Amino acid sequence: MPYLTQLADVARRTGHPVTEVAGWKTRGHGPQPEVQGLVCHHTAGPAGGGDYPSLAVVRDGRPGLAGPLSQFGLGRSGRIYVIAAGRCWHNAPSTSPLHDNSSSLGIEAENSGGQPWPEVQREAYVRLCAELCREFGLAASRVKGHKEVNTAKPDPHSINMNDFRAAVAAIIGGTTPPQPSWTEKIVRELPMIGLGDDNQDVKTVRGCLFARGQVPAAAYASVPNGLRGWLETALCDAGLVTLIRNFQQAQGIGVDGIVGPVTWPTLLRV
Ligand SMILES: [Zn+2]
Repeated sequence: MPYLTQLADVARRTGHPVTEVAGWKTRGHGPQPEVQGLVCHHTAGPAGGGDYPSLAVVRDGRPGLAGPLSQFGLGRSGRIYVIAAGRCWHNAPSTSPLHDNSSSLGIEAENSGGQPWPEVQREAYVRLCAELCREFGLAASRVKGHKEVNTAKPDPHSINMNDFRAAVAAIIGGTTPPQPSWTEKIVRELPMIGLGDDNQDVKTVRGCLFARGQVPAAAYASVPNGLRGWLETALCDAGLVTLIRNFQQAQGIGVDGIVGPVTWPTLLRV
C-alpha cells in the first residue's frame, strides 16, 4: 500500500472541519503496509490549552518514541487533524494482529485521560471511524480502543467500545449524512470558550448573553466602568462561566459552562 493521501478527503466526508497538517502526505515510518483495523486513543495531554495541544507530540514524537504517533488527531471541537499518510507508532505491542502499527490506523483524540468528552468530539470520533471503515471496507468490529488491543493501556478512557462500535455500525449501514448548512459550518469554525480563555470571542459571548437578557446588573455592579467594562472584558472568568451555565440550563441544553458547538447556535440563534 502506498502513502494514504486520500485520508484528508475521507475525513472531510464526516462533515467536521479538517486541518491538513503541513507535510502530512509524506509523513510516516515508511508507507502504511495495510489497513485491517482502527485504533482509538486519547492523548493524555494537558486538560486545557486549546483544541489540540498535543499536535506537536503526535507529529514529532516524544523522547524514546519518534513521531508520527498516529495518522489522525481529533480536537476537542471535533476538528480532525490529518497528521500522517504513512505508518505510525501508535500501538506496540498489540494483542491483535489486525491492530498493530503495520495493519491499522491510529486516531489520537485530545483528552487528559480523565476529563469528560465534549459531545461534538465524540460524534466526530464515531463519524471518522465510520468513514474510515467505508473507505477501507472494514466492518465496525474492526474498530478497537487501545485498551482492548494493548493490556497496558487505559485509552480511550470512559468510552464503552461496544456502544462506540454500535454507533459506527449505524452510520456505515445508513445513508450518507446530509451536508451541514452554511450556518452550521460557521458555528463549527467558532472556538470553544471556557474558564480561563482570554480572547475577543469571549467578548462576543458576553454580548450575546447580554442581548439574551442573561446578565443581571449584579454581574457588573463592581466592575470598573460597569456594563461597558464588563462587556469589554476578554477573560472568561468564574462569573461568566456561571452565567453560561445559567443560560444553558434555561435553554435545556447540557450544562457544562463551555460555549461550544451546542451552545453557540443557541446563543447566536442560528
Ligand atoms: Zn493509546
